[in-house]
Amino acid sequence: MSTPPEATLESPDYAIIAMVQGSIGEPAVALGTKGRCRFCGQTEPRAFRNVAHTLPDAFGNKWVTSLDECDACNASFGTFDDALVKSMGAILTVGGTQGKGNKVRQTGRSDGPASIRHRIIDGKRSISMRTNGTPFSDHFGVKPKTGELVFRIPGGTERFIPARAYKALVKMAVALLPADELPNFTKIIAWLHSTDDDLLPHMIVGISFSTIGNSPPLLAAALLRRTSSNLDTPYMLFVTTMGSVCLQIVLKADSQDGEWPSRLRTRPNIRWTNMLAPTGEEPLALVYDYPVHLDWGRAGLEPPVIEAIVTAVHPQTGQGHMSAVLRKSALAPSPS
Ligand SMILES: [Zn+2]
Repeated sequence: MSTPPEATLESPDYAIIAMVQGSIGEPAVALGTKGRCRFCGQTEPRAFRNVAHTLPDAFGNKWVTSLDECDACNASFGTFDDALVKSMGAILTVGGTQGKGNKVRQTGRSDGPASIRHRIIDGKRSISMRTNGTPFSDHFGVKPKTGELVFRIPGGTERFIPARAYKALVKMAVALLPADELPNFTKIIAWLHSTDDDLLPHMIVGISFSTIGNSPPLLAAALLRRTSSNLDTPYMLFVTTMGSVCLQIVLKADSQDGEWPSRLRTRPNIRWTNMLAPTGEEPLALVYDYPVHLDWGRAGLEPPVIEAIVTAVHPQTGQGHMSAVLRKSALAPSPS
């Protein structure tokens, strides 16, 4: 369906050292070598019976798996992936992202204050929303300036633990590390197995979006290593795009960012572009915005990061665009 997509990056300080992609029509990719778990050192062959998804299957990953993630690690990482899914469940529903068993995740309980359902009717995607006991005017309106009709889909009421969702990103990043980089990240790997209250300084996550709506069935993940000699530049960044969302973190190194745990306050700020090249068609650039930053250094249950998804429709042309509204309390305060 498409030739391998490419990713581009506008940053002189970094070079991509590892990257995987998955998309419809692309061959499966298996990372790592069998025999030893890169997360815990397990070598027992019977401890590697399950398929370990490198990126969560709930985000549409059907292509990228890890050979060197044991079943015990896979099971404990499942709770991290679950937290990541709950942090932004609405975008998976609205995007029609096909998770496990090709099912689209639904957001909100049908008896809750608001829920969103994704269905295929006559081969067409249908998003429906229902509200119980909340006024109609909370969800529909007209923008006075443009006359656009505005629909507001609430982000659901499921809660998540930010520190766990952060660990989901760390786990993906570690899965991608080339073998010769693993010795530089022993401390963050050990931290993956720590309790959730064991927080690190500056657990900052960059989040941005490309077009929201029909989620592109495309996942990419990359590690970027610094090329400059500026030690205020974090040594390693991890960026992943899953459908219409892009997430990025600093992958904290043992000593390359100063003493562990690093006090480095630089935020990941990569503007990522995926190039889609459908056979026989002009390549299409899928551009993700510059990120805004979330603080996931918290161990308590919180409401989803995506508070609502807003669709604005022009009354004459019928053209619409969707945008995600992030919960203000989820944002990291501006650095002082
Ligand atoms: Zn393991």
